[in-house]
Amino acid sequence: MVMRVTEKAPAKLNLSLDTPMRYFDGSPRWDMVMTSADLADYVTVETHQRPTTIKVYTDSGFLPNDQRNLAYQAAHILKSRFHCREGVTIHIRKNIPVAAGLGGGSSDAAAVLRALNNIWRLGLSLAELAKIALTIDSDVPYCVYSRLAHVTGHGEEIELLPAQPHYWAVIAKQQISVSTPQILRQINYEQLKHLDNERLIASLRAQDWQEAVKYMGNVLEPVTMSFYPEIRRLKDKMASLGADVAQMSGTGPTVFAICHTASRAKRIQNSISGFCRDVHVVTLL
Ligand code: ATP
Repeated sequence: MVMRVTEKAPAKLNLSLDTPMRYFDGSPRWDMVMTSADLADYVTVETHQRPTTIKVYTDSGFLPNDQRNLAYQAAHILKSRFHCREGVTIHIRKNIPVAAGLGGGSSDAAAVLRALNNIWRLGLSLAELAKIALTIDSDVPYCVYSRLAHVTGHGEEIELLPAQPHYWAVIAKQQISVSTPQILRQINYEQLKHLDNERLIASLRAQDWQEAVKYMGNVLEPVTMSFYPEIRRLKDKMASLGADVAQMSGTGPTVFAICHTASRAKRIQNSISGFCRDVHVVTLL
């Protein structure tokens, strides 16, 4: 019998991104507040008796469809850990720009974990799935939840925060390719201007958005912007058009603006779409 589940895989945004230190293995310790936007891939997962292999299909010409695809890795891990013999076919309808700092691959992988947990009736809690998710990539544990959260450690320590009132995000990706490992290697810990995440979290708990925006930020902006100054120009443009906050997500190149009215978000979209073609106006989840 063929079982089929479709999961929505939303893009993540970093309301704050900081790294206090590197671990001994050179990987960064993260201190981030993350949220998700209603810009999503759709991941359909099917299981069948034969063949027993994993297959990935996407509608994007840019993505690998073998074990390099994070969605493939998610299926492989659950299949081997729980000795599931069935074959898995994954269809990804891609809407999230690739290699953009929006966690598209991580969110697809998390969607596969949720779908197979459901189809195979594994009974794993989201916390248990998040633990498995860390073996795939650092943003996958957050993406298992895909809702406002404080994320620390390698990405596996997740504290959920209360949902906020309705906000709009303008998400804009210029035609720039940023290599995440390259940016992470460039971090000079002596020079980072750290954020006050505690105050950001306290403001979000109090649902005081006007206060919260004062503490949002991304300490990696100067690193990525030193290679790609056009990212700063886009951010400054969004801020000058009246966004509540405008900043880079992840290691870039995507810049997002958050607005409390749809009309302001539309105005920003209209003003920047002349020089940036990949622009989305969506709500925050
Ligand atoms: P990161 O910051 O973790 O690199 P990102 O948000 O910048 O992620 P993604 O869209 O996740 O960007 O893509 C990063 C890399 O992961 C790309 O080089 C891509 O080939 C690879 N990748 C593997 N699987 C996927 C997938 N399902 N969707 C998108 N990219 C994927």
